[in-house]
Amino acid sequence: MYDYVIVGAGSAGCVLANRLSENPQVSVLLLEAGGPDKKQEIHIPAAFSKLFKTPLDWNYQTEPQPHLNNRTLYWPRGKMLGGSSSMNAMMYIRGNRHDYDEWGESGNPGWAFADVLPYFKQAEHYEQGDSDYTGGDGPLNVAEQRSMNRLTRVFIDAAVEAGLPRTDDFNGRTQEGVRATLVTQKGGTRNSTAVAYLRPALKRPNLTVQTQAQAVKMLVEGKRVVGVAYLQSGAKKEMRASREVILCGGAVNSPQLLLLSGIGPADHLRALGIDVVADLPGVGQNLQDHLAGGVEYHCTQPITLASAQKPGNILNFLLFKKGPLTSNVAEAAAFFKTKADLMVPDVELIFAPSFFQEHGFANPPGHGFTIGVVLLHPESKGRLTLRSTNPTDPPAIQPNYFASETDVQVMIAGLRRARQIGQAKAFDPYRGKEYLPGEAVQSDADLEEFLRTNAETLYHPVGTCKMGEDALAVVDADLRVRGVEGLRVVDASVMPTIISGHTNAPTIMIAEKAADLIKGRTVAAS
Ligand SMILES: Cc1cc2nc3c(=O)[nH]c(=O)nc-3n(C[C@H](O)[C@H](O)[C@H](O)COP(=O)(O)OP(=O)(O)OC[C@H]3O[C@@H](n4cnc5c(N)ncnc54)[C@H](O)[C@@H]3O)c2cc1C
Repeated sequence: MYDYVIVGAGSAGCVLANRLSENPQVSVLLLEAGGPDKKQEIHIPAAFSKLFKTPLDWNYQTEPQPHLNNRTLYWPRGKMLGGSSSMNAMMYIRGNRHDYDEWGESGNPGWAFADVLPYFKQAEHYEQGDSDYTGGDGPLNVAEQRSMNRLTRVFIDAAVEAGLPRTDDFNGRTQEGVRATLVTQKGGTRNSTAVAYLRPALKRPNLTVQTQAQAVKMLVEGKRVVGVAYLQSGAKKEMRASREVILCGGAVNSPQLLLLSGIGPADHLRALGIDVVADLPGVGQNLQDHLAGGVEYHCTQPITLASAQKPGNILNFLLFKKGPLTSNVAEAAAFFKTKADLMVPDVELIFAPSFFQEHGFANPPGHGFTIGVVLLHPESKGRLTLRSTNPTDPPAIQPNYFASETDVQVMIAGLRRARQIGQAKAFDPYRGKEYLPGEAVQSDADLEEFLRTNAETLYHPVGTCKMGEDALAVVDADLRVRGVEGLRVVDASVMPTIISGHTNAPTIMIAEKAADLIKGRTVAAS
C-alpha cells in the first residue's frame, strides 16, 4: 500500500513523483511500462529519431486518414523513464498567453495565463537567468543551443528578409517572430524529466520506481479507485493507493486505461462487454494534434547535419559535448499569423539544417535543409477508442486530420510563406534545387495534394481526457476524474485545446500545478 500510485514516468509522471515525494511522510509508487533511460541515443540530442520504432517507442499507427489519401500515420511515443521527454526534439516553446486564457475561460478556474505562469517559472532553470516571464531556479534546464548550424543563422536572416521580426524569446513578451530554438538540454545533453526531476529524487526512501510495469486496469470499489493492476515481466500484480491513483500515461494511454477500467462512453464500453463504472462520454474524444508539412531544398555546401556522425564530430561530442551531435535538429522556429486579424499566430515554421523525410527514415542522400510548416490551431478533431479489451492491443487512433477545409487553407498559406523564406537572398549561397514539394508544384490544388500525400504529425497529441465542465469534460479543474473518487489524470490529455507551441512545457507545468492541487497548496497568480 502506497499513499499515491502514479502510472507513467513521462513528462508529467516524473515531475509528480518528485514533487509528491518531497514530503517524507508520504509514500509514492511510480509505475513505468518501459525500461530505464540508459541507451546513449536518448542523451545525444541529434540522435532522437534513432529511438523511433525501437523497444523504447510505443510505435503507434493511426487509423487510415480519410483526408490524407487514406494514409496511416506513424505516431512515436516514448516508452521509458522520461516518456516522450526522453525522445522528443527538446524544443522549449510554451505557447501563447491567450491559449491559457482560453483554458481559463472555458470552465477551468485557475488555468488562465496569470495562474499558470508561476508554475512554468517554478519548473524552469533558464540558463540566461530569470525574468518576468521565465524562471531561473527550477529543475528543468532551458538552454540556448551550444553549436548552432551556420544555416540556422541564414534561416533567421532569410525570415527577417521576408518580413518577420526577430523575437527575444517565444515564451517572453512577444511570441510572433523568428528565433533560434531554446532547448531542454544541460551541458549539451538532453534534459528529460527523468534527468531533471526523477534522478534527484531517487535516493528518497519514500519513492519507489518500478519499470517494465504496465498498468492494465484500475482497481475500483464502488465508485472509488483504490489501486492499480499491472503486468510486470509477465506476472500479474496489484498495488493499492490509500490516497490517490494518478494517471500520467499520456494522451494515448491514459484514455485507453480509463476505458479498460470501465470509465468512458457507456455504449462503447458495453459494446466491448466492459462493466461501466462511470459513463463519461468525453474519454478518448477531443483528440487534437499538430500536423506538419514542409519545404525541403538541396544544400550546395556540405555543412548540414548529414555530416553529424563523422568521427571528428563524435569525438567532439564525447570529449566536450559540443558540435552537431548536440543539435536538436529543429534549430529555429518562427511564429506568424496568416490573417492580420487573428488573435494568436496560426502557423509555426520550424527550421532544420537537414532533410527530414518520413520521420528521418527516408532522407535522400547528400545535404539538404527543411522549413517545416505547422498548423497550430487545427479545427479538425479526432477520437481514440478501444479495439479490444486486451490492454496490450494498441487503441484505434483517429485524429481526423484535415477534416476541416480551413485547416487545409492555413497550411497552404504556411507553405507559401515557407517557400518565400526559402527563396530569400540570404539562402542564395546555399540553396540548391527545391526537393519538396518540387518546383512544378505551384497551384493551390497541387499544394493541397502535396500536403495530403506528405503531411505528418508533429508528435503533439492532446485533449483526450480534457478538463472542463461541459458534457465532454473528463476531469474537473482540479484534474479529478468525474464520476469516481481517488483518481486524477495529469498529462497532455487534460489540455482542453491545443496550444500555439510545443506540448512538453505545458505538460510539465500541468504536473507542477497538479502537485500543488494534490497537496492542497495554492500559489498566487502573477
Ligand atoms: C518524437 C517526438 C518529438 C517531440 N518533440 C517535442 C519538442 O521538441 N518539444 C515539445 O515541447 N514537445 C515535443 N514532443 C511532445 C512532448 O514530448 C509530449 O507532449 C510530452 O512528453 C507528453 O507528456 P506526457 O506526460 O503526457 O506523456 P509521456 O511523456 O509520453 O509519458 C507517458 C509515460 O507513461 C508510460 N505509460 C503509458 N501507459 C502506461 C501504463 N499503462 N502503465 C505504465 N506506464 C505507462 C509511458 O511509457 C510513458 O513513459 C515530442 C514528442 C515526440 C514523441
